Amino acid sequence: MTKKTALVVSAHSADFVWRCGGAIALHSQKDVDVTVVCLSYGERGESAKLWKQAGMTLDKVKSERRREAENAARALDVHDIQFFDLGDYPLEMDRAAKDRLVDVMRAVQPSFMMTHSKYDPYNTDHMYVSQWTLECRAIAQAWGHNPGQKILGAPQVYLFEPHQTEQMNWKPDTFLDITPVWEKKWAAIQCMEGQEHLWHYYRNVAENRANHFQRNSGGQSGGRAAKYAEGFESIFPRTVDEL
Ligand SMILES: [Zn+2]
Repeated sequence: MTKKTALVVSAHSADFVWRCGGAIALHSQKDVDVTVVCLSYGERGESAKLWKQAGMTLDKVKSERRREAENAARALDVHDIQFFDLGDYPLEMDRAAKDRLVDVMRAVQPSFMMTHSKYDPYNTDHMYVSQWTLECRAIAQAWGHNPGQKILGAPQVYLFEPHQTEQMNWKPDTFLDITPVWEKKWAAIQCMEGQEHLWHYYRNVAENRANHFQRNSGGQSGGRAAKYAEGFESIFPRTVDEL
């Protein structure tokens, strides 16, 4: 039997850490090979602390953000991390970049994928990546695209939690208990040295989602406790044999 795999598409090099680091570490622990694609380093738009240093250059910011992301990936036991270096603010994906992402989808053959929320007026890079991921998923399923290659099946796409959740039309339908791997996520979060202002914010998010995990797993009659959780909104229906 071939090994189960997953694919995360992250607009900037830190997004996968805050938004689904727990899911990555948890599935790695379950022997799932998780591949992360960072479309950019977030070098222009998500690296303010570095830009405040004297003599900073774009190349220095990019290499620093790459180092942080690689350290975080190690902390989360990521199987493979790929950097497309497409630039950010604005992040743009031409046909060649989309074909490259389609190639990754077909090579990885993920059981599920994760990416950004559909709407994000604060950070349009994020919402375009959500759209492009769905577009590339459809291309990867097309028999007429690079005939002869193994086409993609129908992996679920989970949209991870954006910042300022209430503004994003993002509504979670899945809560994942990440308590067993919280220390790994916390270690990965701390690799993001340039964004220290977000560390405790995302610990709070995980604690609040754990409360929702418990409420939805049994409520007052005794839900299963979780200390840390992540929320996701799924795009496609589940197919089941029993409810
Ligand atoms: Zn981002």
